[in-house]
Amino acid sequence: MPEGKIIKALSGFYYVYSDDEIIQCRGRGVFRKNKVTPLVGDEVVFQAENDKEGYILEVKDRKNELVRPPIANVDQAILVFSAVEPDFSTALLDRFLVLVEYNRIKPIICITKMDLTSEDQHKQIQMYAEDYKRSGYTVLLTSSETEEGIKELYPYLDGEISVFAGQSGVGKSSLLNALNPDLDLRTDDISSHLGRGKHTTRHVELIRMGNGLVADTPGFSSLEFMEIEMSDLNFCFPDIQLKSEECKFRGCLHIAEPKCAVKAAIETGELPAYRYEHYKQFLQEIKDRKPRY
Ligand code: GDP
Ligand code: ZN
Repeated sequence: MPEGKIIKALSGFYYVYSDDEIIQCRGRGVFRKNKVTPLVGDEVVFQAENDKEGYILEVKDRKNELVRPPIANVDQAILVFSAVEPDFSTALLDRFLVLVEYNRIKPIICITKMDLTSEDQHKQIQMYAEDYKRSGYTVLLTSSETEEGIKELYPYLDGEISVFAGQSGVGKSSLLNALNPDLDLRTDDISSHLGRGKHTTRHVELIRMGNGLVADTPGFSSLEFMEIEMSDLNFCFPDIQLKSEECKFRGCLHIAEPKCAVKAAIETGELPAYRYEHYKQFLQEIKDRKPRY
């Protein structure tokens, strides 16, 4: 049986990408039994009825599943942050990183609008970029205006399902347009002034970009730590997690425990203090979270 990947779902049809062809498939009750609704991003087994049409027989196990936008098997998130307008925020970046890590998605940090930075701002951003690289992240400095750093992004899209994420106005649509000029996603300039969100009425769709697939709708619209437990947080900060292997106590939360290697590393400047501050803030936020029923 042929296999493929759902790249678009619309009006009861699933568009399955397989062997460089797109087959329009219907579902046939199979997944209704096990309560699986096929999602864009799903790997499926299908039966072809002819060159163009078929029906889905099976939805393979998912590696992850985002709710907004509804999409499965996301490999990678391009976290888009502007250097200025709005100003770069490590607190917000760390929040996105935690959510992405928790979903077992690989983050790529992309700092846009570098063309708008003053010399001092430029230096500051470069310092942050070095910090995050030392923490193990990929960081790209870009400008959709001058196309600085755009080419460097392509290889990271290869063979992956990527979503772009980031606050409104940071330059996600501009970046997608710069990567793929045929796309013509409207930028905030036009759409927000018309009073309608640019993506509200549209279905999510995976578009081909280079040798990868990119969701045409930004991900991680909710930034709350709904399901994350206090003990998970360590794993969502890979730099802190690496250090925590040297903590005296297993399961050390790096707050009041003695002989904590993470706190020691903050003292010596080996780990950036702001990462630890955000870790503590998020821990508190999770602690204060009202129980869900
Ligand atoms: P989105 O909401 O994240 O999709 O952001 P947009 O792509 O709509 O960009 C918001 C505004 O920032 C628009 O006015 C863009 O023209 C502008 N913009 C985006 N990227 C850049 C950039 O790299 N340099 C400059 N100078 N302006 C940019
Ligand atoms: Zn510790």
